Amino acid sequence: MSSLKQIAAWFDSTAVRTEKSDHISWTRVVPFIMMHLAVVGVFWVGFSWFAFWVCIFLYFVRMFAITGFYHRYFSHKNFKTSRFLQFVFAFVGATSAQRGPLWWASHHRFHHAKSDTSEDPHSPRQKGFMWSHALWFLSDKNFATNERRIKDFTKFPELKWLDRFDVVAPAILAVVLFGVGEYLTAYYPGLETSGWQLVIWGFFISTILLYHATYTINSLAHRFGSRRFETKDDSRNNLMLALLTMGEGWHNNHHYYSGTARQGFVWYEIDLTFYILKLMSYCGLVWDLKPIPDKIKTQLHKA
Ligand SMILES: [Zn+2]
Ligand SMILES: [Zn+2]
Repeated sequence: MSSLKQIAAWFDSTAVRTEKSDHISWTRVVPFIMMHLAVVGVFWVGFSWFAFWVCIFLYFVRMFAITGFYHRYFSHKNFKTSRFLQFVFAFVGATSAQRGPLWWASHHRFHHAKSDTSEDPHSPRQKGFMWSHALWFLSDKNFATNERRIKDFTKFPELKWLDRFDVVAPAILAVVLFGVGEYLTAYYPGLETSGWQLVIWGFFISTILLYHATYTINSLAHRFGSRRFETKDDSRNNLMLALLTMGEGWHNNHHYYSGTARQGFVWYEIDLTFYILKLMSYCGLVWDLKPIPDKIKTQLHKA
């Protein structure tokens, strides 16, 4: 694949064709490393409580968009929502710089279909920790959206647009953070923040935390934790990961039955994403949340 085309793919993800190779090119690695290096900027911009809370807030809002929408909605159709909200959360999810919703969901559906076999795009059993955690999405093979697997959503032109120009969403977030930071410097100097400080904390630090927390579900949640169900894959239930990812750590439950909006199958399995979806359903923002089927509930009682 020519480097020029791959550089074009930074801005337009349809600029390159689907490849079969596991090869990881520098055009994918360099921006990924730059994202991490940007965190060092904290030594220049310093700390303020305001920037800190913006970082935490944007971590959880975007984690919810990833788990609630990229995962439970776009990948698994665990509930329904309006076309408007579908786009809003697709956009918020895209500000996490984990590619577009169609790319994310199409690869995730493939993961469920082939979990921990040689075809799984990110199996630690097959290719080790680093591949399952972060290398798999830097490879040529996994760059393109697998449109065949996400036909139910490719009919929405606004989603296709967002998926194609996925870099727009994080870029807008960074610019808005800079603008807000500069405004606050001028009008609320007591907050002791600045444009660049909000960009570093609210965008870079928050996004890097979000990256690695999300990735643990593909790497650690297929390695560490307990197994309630005998699935063919190595998925595990892990409380720490569930807390970090707002409920995604109940990964063995989820691999056993991915048709429910709920991943914590019993009351003490904390699943923040589900609680928020439930609240949203009371307000009519989402509906038809798929429940845990009775046959699984009876199994849980026996266990
Ligand atoms: Zn899933
Ligand atoms: Zn999995």
